[in-house]
Amino acid sequence: MTSAERGENGERGGSELRRDFLSGRWVLIAPERARRPNDFQSVRAPTIDVSRTSCPFCEGREAETPPEVEALRDESPVPDSAGWRVRVVPNKFPALTPGPEPTPEKRAGGLFESLPGTGVHEVVVDTPDHDREWVDLPVDHIRDVLGIFRRRLRAIEQDSTIQYVQIFKNKGGFAGASLRHPHTQILGVPVVPQQVWEELSALEHHARESGGCFFCRLIKDEEAGPRRIRTGPDFIALAPYASRFPYETHVLPRRHTALFRETTDEELIGLARMMKFVLSRLRDVASDPDYHIVLRQAPVTRGARPGDPRLDSFVHWRIEVLPVMGLVAGFEWGTGCFINPIVPESAAAALRG
Ligand SMILES: [Zn+2]
Ligand SMILES: [Zn+2]
Repeated sequence: MTSAERGENGERGGSELRRDFLSGRWVLIAPERARRPNDFQSVRAPTIDVSRTSCPFCEGREAETPPEVEALRDESPVPDSAGWRVRVVPNKFPALTPGPEPTPEKRAGGLFESLPGTGVHEVVVDTPDHDREWVDLPVDHIRDVLGIFRRRLRAIEQDSTIQYVQIFKNKGGFAGASLRHPHTQILGVPVVPQQVWEELSALEHHARESGGCFFCRLIKDEEAGPRRIRTGPDFIALAPYASRFPYETHVLPRRHTALFRETTDEELIGLARMMKFVLSRLRDVASDPDYHIVLRQAPVTRGARPGDPRLDSFVHWRIEVLPVMGLVAGFEWGTGCFINPIVPESAAAALRG
């Protein structure tokens, strides 16, 4: 039986290998694994909580972070004071720091290549409230956070040393969050990461063969199919065909845009609504798992693709919600092939509600 022959819920007995079109990555969809007693549960770190009394992201403790980059404020116009709704600060322990344009250096006859670790590492404190995740925030507030992402992306891409900007959120200890207070990170890196390159090349190949954007076609194909989770006027949420993780969800803009910074004000509201829906369904269906949220988009400098104006025509940004439900273990590390115990069509049916 092929996946096209499956029922609405995609159920059948055995396992199936599915290949992701863009990465070429195989995923082993193995529903039998879900029956093992301890193999499939939402996992939670015992505790990562820093109490409100010592949390550097709580309102009133602004002096404990580096001076803010910007903030949305209802009350005080004074930087680094209380009265903000969303606040952006440099990461106190940055993975990368600003510097001059790096030049690659090959060592020892070219076997070992390195670059200085220059770049940008910022933290968006999503809310002054220590305990309110995105799912608990009003749609308008989520829109404000997304609006800040757009502003930061526009600012960071002015820096000619940055080639790719990664926005990501780790919610919960098993997702890698070191502080409980809801926050999102922005990393501007001086290279185009390999995974992004590989996807660009698959997208370009698709555009050459089929004459259009892979994602615009995907949206059309999946619109009424068993992997749709929610369809809205500006955005659609889908379970990817080769989902790596249980309840993995991708949110895509209907309008073809390569970079998140091109999102309009009206689209930001639609996106905020869609994210709130997706995250509340995930909480209800999968027992409030830890998760990652990652933005996937085009490189920000055209230097990444000198003289190739077609980049905008075949890259289409998306947000991925990646629940942490079971650990990535030896098989995945050894092969790059993920084992997912939840059939994506079943996940979509559950998330649709
Ligand atoms: Zn806090
Ligand atoms: Zn498109």
